[in-house]
Amino acid sequence: MLRYVLASFTAAAFILTATAQAEPALKALIADGQNNHGNWPQTTKMMKKYLEDTKLFSVDVATTAKQGTDESFQPDFGKYNVVISNYNGAPWPKETREKFIDYVKGGGGFVVVHAANNAFGDWKEYNDMIGLGGWGGRNEKSGPYVYLDEAGKLVRDEAQGGGGHHGPQHPFQLIVRDAEHPVTKGMPRAWMHVNDELYDLLRGPGENMHILATAYSDKAKGGSGRHEPMIFTVEYGQGRVLHTPMGHGNDSQECVGFITTLTRGAEWAATGKVTLPIPDDFPAEEKTSQRKFGE
Ligand code: ZN
Repeated sequence: MLRYVLASFTAAAFILTATAQAEPALKALIADGQNNHGNWPQTTKMMKKYLEDTKLFSVDVATTAKQGTDESFQPDFGKYNVVISNYNGAPWPKETREKFIDYVKGGGGFVVVHAANNAFGDWKEYNDMIGLGGWGGRNEKSGPYVYLDEAGKLVRDEAQGGGGHHGPQHPFQLIVRDAEHPVTKGMPRAWMHVNDELYDLLRGPGENMHILATAYSDKAKGGSGRHEPMIFTVEYGQGRVLHTPMGHGNDSQECVGFITTLTRGAEWAATGKVTLPIPDDFPAEEKTSQRKFGE
């Protein structure tokens, strides 16, 4: 009997070792290189580690030159299951833009974080993919403001005005609006996000867009007085896009809610499903949860 038990342990240990050494199932690419947020090298490092820590993703980073359109920036998007943009800068080369459209249209996953939604204000297809954006010359020609009213009803407001605004950074509460979507399933109905810029007045085509969670942009905190989309999806061709305007600072990206949204969002964008669990240290209705990076 003892021998049998030992043999079972050995077999179990072998399986564990084999699992640990297996190649991650999914390939992710983070695009960066230019950003009005000087901490972008750090946030790329953080997002790369968050994704790798799931054991689900291997992660490459494609970085442009520091300024201007970098003609040598030609990632092979087709090698990846999901692309994460941490880029807000000069236009990508024409060929790269076309390849990126083909990649997402053909079923590639795309995750948009914070200032990546400031990028490419006049690139039509990019704005179709991200649904909503801010700054970058956006105005009523870019599409409506999209938000939820007090009754939770979707508003598409064609009013004139610029796109993109935020008050001073502060912790704020997310309200889950679709608790059945794979990305938000299992999250508490309300949870507190660590200190961040609460992007409001985003505008864009907003087609094929589905809001998973919002945050109330309080006028008392310099906000719009609207329930602003904070986690949402966009269908673009066969591709799945997960967009979160969260993630301004290193502290914002240490929020366990942000980390969970990023990793589950990337899995969903890549596969259409989510196997990653909601972690035990997920924030609560009135309580933020922050993991100091590197610990
Ligand atoms: Zn910011």
